[in-house]
Amino acid sequence: MRHDVSGVTPQSFASSPAIRQKMQQQRRHDTAIELALRSEIFRHGLRYFVHRRPVASVRREADILFPGARVAVFVDSCWWHACHEHGTLPRSNRQWWKTKFDRTRQRDLDTNARLKAAGWEVIRVWEHENVVEAGRRVVTTVAAQRKAMSNDWDRQELRRARGQGSVAQRSQSAGAG
Ligand SMILES: [Zn+2]
Repeated sequence: MRHDVSGVTPQSFASSPAIRQKMQQQRRHDTAIELALRSEIFRHGLRYFVHRRPVASVRREADILFPGARVAVFVDSCWWHACHEHGTLPRSNRQWWKTKFDRTRQRDLDTNARLKAAGWEVIRVWEHENVVEAGRRVVTTVAAQRKAMSNDWDRQELRRARGQGSVAQRSQSAGAG
């Protein structure tokens, strides 16, 4: 994932050692919460993919995804996604950082909208969230999606069966005879 804005790297704005250190601490992938959430979901018996694009044509990678159920989970870092409780605006280059965090937020909303339009359910989990509760949310959503999709499938099958009623009858009588 690219986090630069207009070709200027955040490093060039990491003017103080404190900010630089803060930035280096922010892992993008396989963060503690991501790993904990994954093992929590696994414990519930669900299997998933990690760090993949839900929709090939949409250049956004989900952290955890269930292609069958069409559920995409994003684990948002409190720092990069500027959580209201823990997000901080560095004192120097405030405007640059504000723009950057605003863009991340816009991008998140845009990602949600694009995936929803493609029929995916999007779950966002904050880094600060309780992992057991977040896991439950994921498990419940996956189950609900699977149920909704199988209901859809049943309806489609029913329509197909009705449409092919004469064929089904013929083969049935042929079998009986
Ligand atoms: Zn937070």
